[in-house]
This record gives sequence, structure tokens and C-alpha cells, in this order.
Amino acid sequence: MTETFTGSFTQQEPIPDDGIAAALEVLRHGRLHRYNTAPGELSETALLEQEFAAQTGAKYCLAVASGGYAMATALRAVGIGPGDKVLTNAFTLAPVPGSIASVGAVPVYVGVTEGLTIDLDDLAAKAGQARVLLLSHMRGHLCDMERLMAICDAAGVTVIEDCAHTMGAAWNGVPSGRFGAAGCYSCQTYKHVNSGEGGLLVTDDEELAARAVILSGSYMLYERHLAAPGPEVFERVKYVTPNISGRMDNLRAAILRPQLRALDAQVARWNERYAALEEGLRNLPGLTVVDRPPEERFVGSSIQFLLLDWAGETVAEVVRRTAARGVEMKWFGAAEPVGFTSRYDSWRYAPHASMPATDRILAGLVDLRIPLTFSVEDCRLIARIIRDEVSAVYGGAA
Ligand SMILES: *Cc1c(COP(=O)(O)O)cnc(C)c1O
Repeated sequence: MTETFTGSFTQQEPIPDDGIAAALEVLRHGRLHRYNTAPGELSETALLEQEFAAQTGAKYCLAVASGGYAMATALRAVGIGPGDKVLTNAFTLAPVPGSIASVGAVPVYVGVTEGLTIDLDDLAAKAGQARVLLLSHMRGHLCDMERLMAICDAAGVTVIEDCAHTMGAAWNGVPSGRFGAAGCYSCQTYKHVNSGEGGLLVTDDEELAARAVILSGSYMLYERHLAAPGPEVFERVKYVTPNISGRMDNLRAAILRPQLRALDAQVARWNERYAALEEGLRNLPGLTVVDRPPEERFVGSSIQFLLLDWAGETVAEVVRRTAARGVEMKWFGAAEPVGFTSRYDSWRYAPHASMPATDRILAGLVDLRIPLTFSVEDCRLIARIIRDEVSAVYGGAA
């Protein structure tokens, strides 16, 4: 009998009961704006920032409207503006080059390795071209962060980390987002905590933090923050930093606080599912599993594998055949971006050089989401379906 899978790759778990209760409380009192506080009250947003700063070990934290907004704010706060070049990953998703474009800057793409991390040799070669790297830990793969920081420090390049897929991850025990000058996280529905939309920015740099608070639209109410620098730092920046409103509200913050407390337990559940999928895909001719380095503590909220050097039509055939059995895979080699799989050459508003080594990886790259509504048994079934179809097509093509 041919097995099929009937689960949804885009169905999240419900918001936990304590999150729903906290959200109802905010709805009942009506003070949704983060600076609308009763006398003596600490807003949900300010508390969220305080808690996330503690969780990541950062001095300062700012909650904002989206992950993309957090990245653009970090770029602005380190002085990036029109015409500046910003190094970034060729393998990432549209909000990353989009945040660079939103400040009028221009991306300089750095290639990807077979391990799906930024190519550090390519980075070293290009480091002289820009003074900021917006590093995307795309699909949760962390590169050798010590080597990356050594390259960037030597070249005087400031690092901003896009941690949309690495909230809860670490390299050699250091949380993702804590190597660079700022770490940016997304709380959008498809990430590791879910408030629909939302973002978090962490930093130890007091001026960066103060500028980010003013940029986000603090109406000079910055003293209501619990994870921001002192008023003397704001004195230095408050009249020269524009308000580009992108605050988080108390409703979202209320939903997020309990989810952040549960993050480590959720990470363990993701990784159980990831392990079942990875195990089911190992030792299959034609398919390359992406090995994870021992230094990396990752969050298995998605899994990637490579059908390296396959003809495009044969990869497309596997994607079609698994889809017919209910397994929705994203392929980064398709000619047109589908869903979330855009590629550096899809962003036609920005220039790009030819990147053959990166094209080879993207042409074979297949990606699956792992929502926590899947059981471990579901993941085993998904792996069996992929195995069947990869073997059938690969056997047929060989
Ligand atoms: C989702 C995502 C972001 C941020 O996205 P928002 O939708 O703006 O919160 C940033 N980088 C990557 C790689 C993403 O997938």
C-alpha cells in the first residue's frame, strides 16, 4: 500500500493557555499601546524585553513590529544609509535583502557552503567592500562563529545577526544573536514563538540600543523601558534620531512571554522530530543529509537536504511526487520563487554578481518545515515517503 501523509505543513500549535489568559487581560483593560500604563504599572512589552534580555544574556532588548523591522532598525542604528553597501548571505529569505533596501543600502552577497552556512572564504575575500555584515542564520544553520567574528573584526566589519531561525540556538554555548553588535529575532507565526507578527532586537551597545528605542517610536517615553540604557545615553541621541514607528504592543507581548518561558522545552520537541526525519533520510543514494557540527546547538524547526548535481527536472519530479503523497517540500532551485523560496537572483531591485558555487547548492536544495503539530511518528512517515520517491526517481534517472 502506498502511504500518504495528511498533516498540514503550515499548522501551528495553539497559543498556550497562559498566553491566552494574559492576552485576555490586556484586551479587558484596553491599554494595548506599550506606553499606555496605569500608575505604577509595568507594561507587558517592557517586561517581555526585560525577560528576553535575561534569557539571552544581553544588556538591552527592544521589542518591535517584525523581524524585518528589527533588522532595518539595527542597520539604521549603526549608521547604514542610502548608497552604503551591506554584506549579506546569498542564501536567505526576502526580508533580509529587503531590510537592506529599506534603508537605501545595497546588498553584497556572500556565498553558501554545502553545510548551508555562509562561505567564510568568500566572506574574507569580500570583507573590504562594506563595513556591516547582516548575517542570516538561514534555516537555523550556524557557521563557525569564532572564525566569522575574527574575519569581521580584522576587517572592521560590524556584524548584525538575523536570528529568525535561531531563537533558542547557540554556538559553543553562546546564544545566537550574542556574537554580533545586535541580534534580531522574529516572532512571526512561522518562527519559534508566535505572536502573528513581532520582532526582538538585543545588544550590549548602549548607543545602538538608545537609537533603536527612539527609532521604534518612543515619543520620549524611554524611561518606561526596563531593558534600555539610562537617560544620559538618550540625551546624546534623542534629537538626532528620527521616529520610524514600529513598536510592539502589549497584546503581542502578553502572548509571547509564556512562549519564551517554554522555549527550551519546545526546542527539545523540535529536535526529536528533526532527528526522526534526519535518521529516516540517511544513507540514501543521491541524497545528501546536512551534517550538523558538534559546536552547534540548533533548533530543528525545519530540515534541509541536497539533491546535489541532479538535473532540475528530476528534482522537480521528486517535489511533485512527494507533494502527491502529502509531503510539501520547498525547492530553492525553481526558476521562480514559490512561497518562501526566493533566491538572491529573485531580488531584481538589487545588483548581484554571478555565483556559480552558490547556484550549484541552491539548485539541489530541498527544504521542509517541521511544525510541532507533527508527531515523531509523522516525521518517520514523511521520511519514508521522501525515501521512496527519491529512490524511484534517482533509480530511474541513473
Ligand atoms: C521570517 C524571517 C525574517 C523576519 O521576518 P518578519 O516576517 O519580518 O518577522 C528574517 N529573516 C529570515 C531568514 C526569515 O525567514
